Amino acid sequence: MMDLIIIGGSIAGTTAAVYASRRKLDFVLLASDLGGEVALSGVVENWPTVNSTTGFEMADQLKAQLIYNNVTIEEGFTVEKLEQVPGGWSATATSLSGVTKTFEARAVIIATGVKPKKLGAPGEEANYHHGVTYCTTCDGPLFKNKITTTIGGGNSALESALMMAMLAKKVYVINKNDKFKGDQILIDKLAATPNVEIIYNALTQKIEGEGAVSGVTFTQNGVPRTVESQGVMIHIGNKANSAFVPAEKDPLGQIMVDALCRTNMPGLFAAGDVTNTPYKQIVVAAGMGCTAALAAIEYLNRL
Ligand SMILES: Cc1cc2nc3c(=O)[nH]c(=O)nc-3n(C[C@H](O)[C@H](O)[C@H](O)COP(=O)(O)OP(=O)(O)OC[C@H]3O[C@@H](n4cnc5c(N)ncnc54)[C@H](O)[C@@H]3O)c2cc1C
Repeated sequence: MMDLIIIGGSIAGTTAAVYASRRKLDFVLLASDLGGEVALSGVVENWPTVNSTTGFEMADQLKAQLIYNNVTIEEGFTVEKLEQVPGGWSATATSLSGVTKTFEARAVIIATGVKPKKLGAPGEEANYHHGVTYCTTCDGPLFKNKITTTIGGGNSALESALMMAMLAKKVYVINKNDKFKGDQILIDKLAATPNVEIIYNALTQKIEGEGAVSGVTFTQNGVPRTVESQGVMIHIGNKANSAFVPAEKDPLGQIMVDALCRTNMPGLFAAGDVTNTPYKQIVVAAGMGCTAALAAIEYLNRL
């Protein structure tokens, strides 16, 4: 049985791995991919010591840091089952090619982040990858000089619309509320961008188009309207990647942790966006990865 299993290969998991490696723990890092949402973060200007970088660059550096610290990585393995066994935990993971492996350790750190929520509107699923996207950073450049619609009202939607305003001919923003919930600096920037039309109090009814998106139909104060769009960027929040985790969760599926990143189960820790921490930021996830690793080390020392 190993000391530790870290599940998740982005900022929280990598930070935990660096600490575990420096303490010479016997551990493995399991990850569906390396980089996670950091890789999708576009331009990052709030990581200490760096004025401006990109998510792609940070993701490359995370991987390089894992290699530098000789971390044993099982990349491409998604954990589907996590259960208590005598003396610790057992995690079962499957690769894209269908290979299944089981790992056992005295402690586990979950750092699996979140995935985007779906609207549930007709035409959304059928047009996924045919104009509908949940990652503007990844797919936005496909809609250069086209018309796009961003749906959402938080920072992620604001960033999506600002990015598209630089690429697309025209950008609609559909917000179901009468104001945005994001940073004022982004709200002001968007309001001052000429090729953006913000539509408040609007409920999306349908993504139009068969084989390719052609528009978005919504109701604004009960009145239906369709706007032309070749791209639809959906940014309406996230759901925690925690289905396989037996610990206590909140109604959003976020794993409940204390200040030491401990869950309600012995030897089971969680860090980063997958937890009930209110601030989903790279620097917060990194700090939690550190805390989880140090708390896990203390737990192991006391066993
Ligand atoms: C468009 C966008 C822009 C952003 N911009 C910024 C910004 O400018 N500044 C900032 O601070 N934050 C930004 N963020 C937020 C930031 O990306 C997240 O807070 C951060 O990535 C969280 O890190 P994490 O390690 O908790 O999880 P993630 O980065 O989500 O990584 C989760 C990891 O877990 C793995 N995983 C998931 N499920 C499983 C499983 N079952 N088995 C194995 N592995 C699994 C994934 O493959 C991945 O490696 C942005 C986010 C988005 C989407």
